[in-house]
Amino acid sequence: MSSKFRKINQKPIVTPIYQTTTFEFPDTDSIIQYQKGKKKGYLYTRYDNPTIEAVEIQMARLDKAESSLLFSSGMAAISGACFTLLTSGDEIISSAPVYGGTQSLFDRFLKKYGIKIRYFPANDTGKLARAISSKTKFIYLESPTNPNLQIVDMKTAAKIARENRIFTLIDSTFASPVNQKPLDFGIDAVMHSATKYLGGHSDIMGGVLSGSSTFIKRVRESRKLLGSCADPNQAFLLDRGLKTLTVRMEKINNNALAVAEFLETIPGLKTVIYPGLDSHPQRSVGISQMSGFGGIVSFDIGSAKMAARFADSLKVIKNAVSLGGTESLISLPIWTSHHGIDRKKLVAMGITPGLIRLSIGLEDKKELITDIKRAIRKSLK
Ligand code: PLP
Repeated sequence: MSSKFRKINQKPIVTPIYQTTTFEFPDTDSIIQYQKGKKKGYLYTRYDNPTIEAVEIQMARLDKAESSLLFSSGMAAISGACFTLLTSGDEIISSAPVYGGTQSLFDRFLKKYGIKIRYFPANDTGKLARAISSKTKFIYLESPTNPNLQIVDMKTAAKIARENRIFTLIDSTFASPVNQKPLDFGIDAVMHSATKYLGGHSDIMGGVLSGSSTFIKRVRESRKLLGSCADPNQAFLLDRGLKTLTVRMEKINNNALAVAEFLETIPGLKTVIYPGLDSHPQRSVGISQMSGFGGIVSFDIGSAKMAARFADSLKVIKNAVSLGGTESLISLPIWTSHHGIDRKKLVAMGITPGLIRLSIGLEDKKELITDIKRAIRKSLK
């Protein structure tokens, strides 16, 4: 900072944006002391930055973790964990389904490096134990699952993993740290796409990993080399989003439950999936590990044609990918989050052509229900 600035002994209420790539040291000895770990400071924003660090401290508190790390996107966080934990010849076991991008990372990208992937159905941890081999390096979970809201029994999965001394990582994006604290159930590390509920306004990309200081320290080293750090502006907006996370999630949980309950009253809809409904097949597991059920409601309208007709008839709910913002969105998974994955494989995981995924936002719930009612009338004809 220019020496012309007045030095003040006051703290700003809001974390400033340290929009700088580099930090000045008073002399070379201070750099040497920093490199030896004897002096704290900031060297280069790809390594560390005060705005980014402020968010990491908050995320660790929210996830009840020792430490957290911020990334440029959710995929950067997932791939950062993979590149840290895996070497050629290792195996991963993943719950299925997972977000399409994650599945492509596993099936197409990691395969190139000689890493084998095995899947087990998210709602059947019984099959997890059977998939473990001597090469299994870590178990990857996603709960609730994108897009069909299956629940992984975290306690059981963590127990199986611990008995076999295998690391566990869960994508908790759909729940947010308000609704789910996976570390409380014995999971080793949590990942969030901060692009969704954490940022909360559909205006930033971001990803977070939270876990033990040892794990985070290892991933921090990979992040430096992979260059997948967040940027200070992005961190500032995330910091701002986190301030309203709890109130947004309360309203979103409430709105989504109302929408799901409404959808259940419509004759002709094949399935309505929401972990907050009594009809959810894993209702009791959901209640035991979640304190709210999030904003995603999925249902099967019958066919891809009907799903498109429904999406095109909505006026308030916008047809756009992503989720977790203030506005409600509709997404047809076969054309969006899971596009490019073999259709047969998708159907086997419950991702049918008629499946519709709603991300419920902060609008008036009556307005949302009216919008859905009108679109259903047009598309069920
Ligand atoms: N995990 C889930 C459940 C997602 O839905 C997404 C994106 O949609 C991701 C991870 C990837 O996050 P990002 O788009 O921030 O890279």
